[in-house]
Amino acid sequence: MDIIFDLIEKERERQSHGLELIASENFVSENVMKAMGSVLTNKYAEGYPGKRYYGGCEVVDEVETLAINRAKELFGVEYVNVQPHSGSQANAAIYLAVLKPGDKIMGMDLSMGGHLTHGSAVNFSGIQYDVVSYGVQQETGLIDYDQMREVALREKPKMLIAGFSAYSRDLDYAKFREVADEIGATLWADIAHPAGLVAKGLLNSPFEHCHVVTTTTHKTLRGPRGGMIMMGKDFENTYGHKTPKGEIKQMSQVLDGAVFPGIQGGPLEHVIAGKAVAFAEAIDDQFLTYAKQVKSNAQALSKAMISNGFDIVSGGTDNHLMLVDLRNKGVNGKETEKALVKADITCNKNMVPFDDKSPFTTSGIRFGTAAITTRGLKENDMETIAGLISEVVDNIKNEELISEVRKKVNGLMEGKALFNY
Ligand code: PLP
Repeated sequence: MDIIFDLIEKERERQSHGLELIASENFVSENVMKAMGSVLTNKYAEGYPGKRYYGGCEVVDEVETLAINRAKELFGVEYVNVQPHSGSQANAAIYLAVLKPGDKIMGMDLSMGGHLTHGSAVNFSGIQYDVVSYGVQQETGLIDYDQMREVALREKPKMLIAGFSAYSRDLDYAKFREVADEIGATLWADIAHPAGLVAKGLLNSPFEHCHVVTTTTHKTLRGPRGGMIMMGKDFENTYGHKTPKGEIKQMSQVLDGAVFPGIQGGPLEHVIAGKAVAFAEAIDDQFLTYAKQVKSNAQALSKAMISNGFDIVSGGTDNHLMLVDLRNKGVNGKETEKALVKADITCNKNMVPFDDKSPFTTSGIRFGTAAITTRGLKENDMETIAGLISEVVDNIKNEELISEVRKKVNGLMEGKALFNY
């Protein structure tokens, strides 16, 4: 047997024993995994259902059409493209569809909670486009919409991005749209993180306000690793979309063309099948129970962290994640992440707004509850977890104590399947 399978088993053990608090991770169902590990991986299918560049696509056409229709039902949208291989690929397609290189964009600053693909200097978005950004208020940790409007009116970006990787509050998409309309910008929402909560109506909907929406499918949405593009109400308004080359086309056509042949070749039909399975699971009422539990676990964890003397940026959470500012504890994000990993608690170091430390060290850590909720944990477990995290942080150099915490973590997770919904 190939050693790779031993390693997969080792990783399964790691995932089973530990507490997964990385906000962007989750555990998929056996059915999602089955679809991904299927013969669909053998098939080339450049193009779209009914319009392929390869023969033998009748079955994958059905698979992809099902995925599209289920996503439309789940999010209540008019247009879906399920082919992006990842969230970053979905985002790259938006840039290609809407802008010319050198155009100005405006997104949330990476150090304030934005994503690499929203204009970071080391990403294609920051390399190929002219970037201005908005952030949060220092006192409240909340998005400063007045500052965002002020910068937008002054800089007149062609595209405005509403989305985040590390912001624990809901977004006011109507406000973003007001500003976008004032300057004639395209409004794009990237709901990669909260997509599962948005789908079930537990957070504001971007679809009434944003011209286009992208997401990943593997975070709160609990599907396979991948990306997706959607359009809601503005599907109609963007019918006569002017492309960067000046042609008038339907926006849906422009977006499809931006994904393939714009930035990708053959779609991953096995992953698209996994997406279709995950969408059906998310349409089910059971997913509403799950999504509500994710939110309520996040609130319970954030409250319990505060009771243990931690600072939470913005004082709490509306979604599945929170950002812990460690400065009052005299430790940094890097050493905290490392110590928690020793206790089988996985999370990631993260910059906090107005951080004076580098992205490699950071003053914060980010936690999310999507994965531990899939494993079946509830509000009372969040109090236990906050207590365990606190023990590690307060004794960050004490290997013996950290090893005791690890035993408690393993005890808490013992007998719990990876997928409990
Ligand atoms: N957009 C946001 C807001 C994200 O948080 C992420 C990933 O964390 C992405 C896009 C990119 O997704 P991927 O890692 O699949 O490229």
